[in-house]
Amino acid sequence: MTRSGFCHECDQFPCARLKQLDKRYRSKYHSSPIDNLRDLNRMGPEVYMEREDVRCRCAGCGAVVCIHSATCKQCGLPLPDRI
Ligand SMILES: [Zn+2]
Repeated sequence: MTRSGFCHECDQFPCARLKQLDKRYRSKYHSSPIDNLRDLNRMGPEVYMEREDVRCRCAGCGAVVCIHSATCKQCGLPLPDRI
């Protein structure tokens, strides 16, 4: 195992533990940590964060939303799938 800042930099990426997490997030939160890490690696941190800044905002009020929430905590709007 290589120790570094992001899972995608490890020579075992995607490891069994991350695959388990990914499966849970795909089914429960409609998001893939593995795809996100691949996108981060491909896009670079600046472009990736610009995309995330758009994806992680409520379409109704513009508040930053949590991936674990089904609705916007600010305005109550249901949040769409993210993948
Ligand atoms: Zn909102």
